[in-house]
Amino acid sequence: MTKTQKLTAIARTVRSIRKNVLGWRATGETVALVPTMGALHDGHLSLVRHVQKKADRVVVSIFVNPTQFGKGEDLSTYPRDEKADRAKLSELGVDLIFAPSVEEMYGEGFATGVHVDGLTDVLCGASRPGHFDGVATVVTKLLLQAGTDLAIFGEKDFQQLVVIKRLVSDLNIPVKILGGSIVREKDGLALSSRNAYLSSSERRVAPLLFQTLKTVRNDLKDGQTAKAVLSRAAVVLEDAGFKVDYLELRDSISLQTLKRKGDGPARLFVAAFLGKTRLIDNIKI
Ligand code: AMP
Repeated sequence: MTKTQKLTAIARTVRSIRKNVLGWRATGETVALVPTMGALHDGHLSLVRHVQKKADRVVVSIFVNPTQFGKGEDLSTYPRDEKADRAKLSELGVDLIFAPSVEEMYGEGFATGVHVDGLTDVLCGASRPGHFDGVATVVTKLLLQAGTDLAIFGEKDFQQLVVIKRLVSDLNIPVKILGGSIVREKDGLALSSRNAYLSSSERRVAPLLFQTLKTVRNDLKDGQTAKAVLSRAAVVLEDAGFKVDYLELRDSISLQTLKRKGDGPARLFVAAFLGKTRLIDNIKI
């Protein structure tokens, strides 16, 4: 960033974010929200660039939401660097950052939750109980607080995107939800704030996750059943040092399991641990 460039302003309160967005909308400008937990990388920034083409104003929220972390998960060690995040967003010309405190988001006596049935029992929902209740609740709050025309979420967290589209429709929240494609390293590893946890040897193995998804996609093209292809692929990952949490072929709207390609709009989902780091990825079939 050059010295003459202005740093993007930070709103810390619901009152302030509302006032700004209402002000823009009152003059006929459209506004987009990009919700994040910070530690921003090119995946997040691609979402910003995408909505900069769709809306007059862009707000990025940065909030490490405690209620979506389970016991023993990485809430206390989750990477946080607001100064670096702000510099990156200022460089892109983001109009406003919304970075509320935990107290601002969850005031005294907070007692309400949003639960999306069915879609949250499978995949990451099965191995991270309560995770999607935390996500659904905080995203509902952010959407209502900001009151933007659009909001964008990455396909990297594909199940999250499906859950959010469902709740926005079910609760009649007046916002259009967009999905952004997955941004990857040159070797195929999907960018993630959690990649920073990988040791150098784990980092060398990590791209095998996406390579395996591509191999499975090819094998499924040959008409083989998902069960046979997926169990072979899981062995490959385990042999390389991954501990596979799930590797599943599912319908990309209902998230129901599919027996083979061609039974519906299919997507392949994987979650696996490399050491202590849990990596997720997915690919359209
Ligand atoms: P997070 O900060 O991890 O909560 O992510 C904030 C948003 O960025 C979510 O909508 C994610 O799906 C999205 N995102 C994270 N990583 C990527 C990536 N590699 N490519 C595209 N979007 C991403």
